[in-house]
Order: sequence, then C-alpha cells, then structure tokens
Amino acid sequence: ARREGELQRNLAALGRVAGGVAHEINNLLQPILTFSRLAAERADNDRDREAMETVLASARQARDIVRTVLEFARPRNLGGIGIIADPVTVIDKEARVAADLAPGMKLTLAHTPAGNRPIVGTRAELGQIIANLIKNAREAMEDGGEVAVTTAPAPDDSALELCIADTGPGMSETTCARIFEPFFTTKEFGKGTGLGLSIVYGIIRRWGGTIRCESSLGAGTRFILTLPYTPETS
Ligand code: ADP
Ligand code: MG
Repeated sequence: ARREGELQRNLAALGRVAGGVAHEINNLLQPILTFSRLAAERADNDRDREAMETVLASARQARDIVRTVLEFARPRNLGGIGIIADPVTVIDKEARVAADLAPGMKLTLAHTPAGNRPIVGTRAELGQIIANLIKNAREAMEDGGEVAVTTAPAPDDSALELCIADTGPGMSETTCARIFEPFFTTKEFGKGTGLGLSIVYGIIRRWGGTIRCESSLGAGTRFILTLPYTPETS
C-alpha cells in the first residue's frame, strides 16, 4: 500500500513536469511542421524535396510522442467518475476495433452474461484501457498471434473481472516488475513512450479497481483487471 501511494505521487509529479515540457515542445513543433510541409511542396528538385519530407516525418513522429505525453498529463476531473451501464458491450466493441488494426491477429471474445452490470468509470477511459492493452499485445506479436478477451463477475461479485491474454513472447521478471512505471519501455525510440500502462494503471486505481499482470518469457502475457460494480449492483 505504501509503495502504491508512492507510485501514485510519482505519477502525478511526473505528469506535471512532462506535461509542461510537452506543451512547450508542441508549440515549437508547429512552425517546423508547417514550413517543412510547405518547403517539401515547393521544392524544385528531388533532393530538397526528400530532405524536407524527412524533416516533416520526424516532426510528425515527435508530435505523436508529445500528444501521448499530453494525454498522460491531462488533469482528470476527479468529480467526474461516471457509471458505465453496460461495460461488457463497451469492452467487446473496443476490442474488435483495436484488433482490426492487426488483420493477422486472432481475437476471441468470451463473456459471462451476468457480468454486464453497471461499473464505476467513463466509456472514453474504458475504451482507452482496452485500446492500450490490445495495442501492446499487437506490438508484442509481430506476425499473427492470438488475443483472448474474457469478462465475468469476480468471485466475490463486487467487480467485473476482465482478462486480456496474448500468445506473444511474454516478459522477463525484471521487465514485469516495472511495466506500470511512467516512461518505462523496452521499445526503440519512436515506437514506444512507456506511458500506456501507467495511464491504464492511473485510471483503474481512480475507479477503485485493480490490475495485475501474469507473464513469463515464452508463455505469453495476461492482464487481469477488476472493475468495481456500482454500490447498487455489486
Ligand atoms: P510502450 O508500449 O510505449 O512501451 P507501455 O506502458 O504500454 O509502454 O508498456 C511498457 C512495456 O511493457 C512495454 O515496452 C513492454 O516491454 C511491456 N509489455 C506491455 N504489454 C506487453 C505484452 N502484452 N507482451 C509483452 N510485453 C508487454
Ligand atoms: Mg503501449
């Protein structure tokens, strides 16, 4: 519990610093994006055009990274924790959308109907959680693989239990221990920001839920989340 409080405080502090830096960089990127695009369009020879397209591509990549950081740093409306009446419907839809981005990947969905009762949360953030977890599965499994999404009431019936399991390469114990830290990534620069799982962690904790990861090298990865039902329905 103490380590968790510490992690939450670190997250908040890091978010503020990173958000400030990201905001400034975002402003500086605007003229680079605009004028490199114009210069590429107006170039009268291939060499200059290719050079400007390279600048533009780098600036776009930087903008995408900055957007992820800004999203992470965005102050959340703490009073605004809502209710999702039909969470399984949202999970099912978001999983299909996220899996569509990897045509070679197989998606299986299995839901226990009794699980689909109102939970604490917002649809947009639940969507963000699913998108982040399936994106990671997709990125871990280069060609194909399988993702299984299952939902059921937790054994004590206080929460919806959501499992997202993939058949990817899994993680070492040292990686597994750090995945929820902001900016922890094993991906090369430009491919990963290391913010996806810390965003997911922050949302789940705010809802009073839990997230844990079971993974080992060669054995795939499984994320198990508990999403608390609202008091009336638990
Ligand atoms: P990013 O995806 O930008 O690296 P994340 O916070 O989403 O940041 O994930 C952190 C790290 O956790 C990843 O770099 C990867 O090493 C590991 N990871 C997350 N999900 C999986 C998965 N499904 N399979 C294997 N490794 C994973
Ligand atoms: Mg990620």
